[in-house]
Amino acid sequence: MNGVGSLIDTTGALSGTAPLVVAMDGPSGTGKSSVSRLLATRLEASYLDTGAMYRVATLRVLRSGVDLDDAAAIAVSVKELPLTIGTDPHRELILLDGEDVSSEIRGNAVTKAVSAVSAVAEVHEQLVALQREITVSAGRIVVEGRDIGTVVLPEADVKIYLTASAEARAFRRNAQNIAEGRGDDYEAVLADVQRRDNLDSTRKVSPLRPAEDAVLVDTSDLNKDEVIDELYRVVRQQISAGGAQ
Ligand code: C5P
Repeated sequence: MNGVGSLIDTTGALSGTAPLVVAMDGPSGTGKSSVSRLLATRLEASYLDTGAMYRVATLRVLRSGVDLDDAAAIAVSVKELPLTIGTDPHRELILLDGEDVSSEIRGNAVTKAVSAVSAVAEVHEQLVALQREITVSAGRIVVEGRDIGTVVLPEADVKIYLTASAEARAFRRNAQNIAEGRGDDYEAVLADVQRRDNLDSTRKVSPLRPAEDAVLVDTSDLNKDEVIDELYRVVRQQISAGGAQ
């Protein structure tokens, strides 16, 4: 989306104000959200969690009692979605009709239903339009999701696709559940990871897959600091090479 090497200053660091759009895609449990947030902080950029947007839409659908098999009713239920989503990587802000739903959208009920809701074409279209608007107004931003490099922002300056084995991803998600008081059940989490991978990669609307010009980063054997260092290195390399290759 931008010019090239101008983003790197004489010390070799990425300067803190120039526009820069980084698309971060990949399946759940790769550590994508936390590392995207940290990468945004390191780049002095905004951060957008597009998964949270689909989760808010799903909460709205669940609260309105709509049948999850009824795509038309789902589309109606989220048409006027009163969603507020912040882009400050230091502070999560997710409101549905003014109510803080940042915790509720991570719960089991939403997690189980979110693939069905996000597969509805109208929901997808509506949220993609909003994601593009937020990106344009932020200018310098890390946008995290499933189809950012392929569909939402195909012109992103840098595209990264995070991967990890299903087992590594389930292990992390389970640890997160334990830490946040949502119980300990590795087998169930692994089954859910595999079920969602399957739904997300085989669906008709924007299936989960790396963009052709994305850089793949496997996080299975890396800790968070190592992932951030690798991502920062990739961003620098892509920018000095003249954008995503
Ligand atoms: O990243 P997270 O697990 O919060 O995403 C929840 C769900 O939202 C995904 O399983 C996927 O179905 C949907 N999603 C999507 N497109 C995105 C981000 C998330 O369809 N860009």
